[in-house]
Amino acid sequence: MAGSADVGSKRRKPKSWGSRALLALVVTGLSAAGVKCGLERGLKELGLDQGEDRPSRPSPSPGRASSSSPPKGAPPKGAPTARPPALSPHLELGVPVRTGARAARAEAAADDHLMIKPQYALSYNRSRNVANWVSWRLDAASFGDAPRHRGKFLADSALPDGWYRVQHDDYTNSGFDRGHMVRSEERTRNPDDNKATFLLTNILPQRHDLNAGPWLRLEEACQELAQKERRALFLIAGGLFDERGRPPTIGKDVAVPGAFFKVAVVLEPGQGPEDIGPSTRVIAAVMPNETGILDEGWAQYRTTVDEIERRAGYDVLTAVPEAVQRALEARTDDGPAGGR
Ligand code: MN
Ligand code: MN
Repeated sequence: MAGSADVGSKRRKPKSWGSRALLALVVTGLSAAGVKCGLERGLKELGLDQGEDRPSRPSPSPGRASSSSPPKGAPPKGAPTARPPALSPHLELGVPVRTGARAARAEAAADDHLMIKPQYALSYNRSRNVANWVSWRLDAASFGDAPRHRGKFLADSALPDGWYRVQHDDYTNSGFDRGHMVRSEERTRNPDDNKATFLLTNILPQRHDLNAGPWLRLEEACQELAQKERRALFLIAGGLFDERGRPPTIGKDVAVPGAFFKVAVVLEPGQGPEDIGPSTRVIAAVMPNETGILDEGWAQYRTTVDEIERRAGYDVLTAVPEAVQRALEARTDDGPAGGR
């Protein structure tokens, strides 16, 4: 029964804060040492994996109503450290969780493989050979003078052994750009940061008119908010696929999305994730992966997070309190479009 599974996972989660914190330290230590770890396996062993019994938010359950009473082992209400520590600074608003039928699929683990890098975090889909989503924090400190990486895009050696590693040439002459999720310009603090954006796990096939058109204009608007206006942004981006039938592919089975989404939670200067409330600005946009839109602005593509969650099959902003998610995710941004 879905309802009891909800209760179970809601209650169980807070008890594992201790091990989650420990895991975060382990992950940090390992990545600092350049060690590739089987994070997914590690999460499973610790009982922290995003398993099938995670709540699927779109179907409200009785468990949810009672989840406000602190479970055993949770810190007292109002304690200064009431939030569980995030796995990464790029996942402070929570790890996106699969919803609906997709969550139940047996092969879900290989198609929802969490990867955490110093520069961003992502979920990789082995069947599609692209990320399901990429999540990252953007603020004024993200920008610097590092030059743009030169040369080919990079196969990601952090993928599990035996998995295909997409190559630069999978995109060559395909009719599609190598479309960054985390933009090169958004990681210019130092050459290593910039190079990481050229890993092909951060790249999806984008039509040039999208990549150099409205998608770029939204990226510029985000840069303006972060760099000029000193706001911290939490971004999630990825491709949207028609679930009926197999997607078109390029190269060696690199799936081409029909559309792209981006969610940007925009904090006011000085605010932290704990300050997110019903009035926090959230930009959500879905753009078609098409030619002929080069001169379009981004603002006409605004939509709700709810719509993106439905089409992507993920619950996002999972660390934001339920009531706040409900308010934020149903709203279409009407703030200034910025950029060009
Ligand atoms: Mn781009
Ligand atoms: Mn959500």
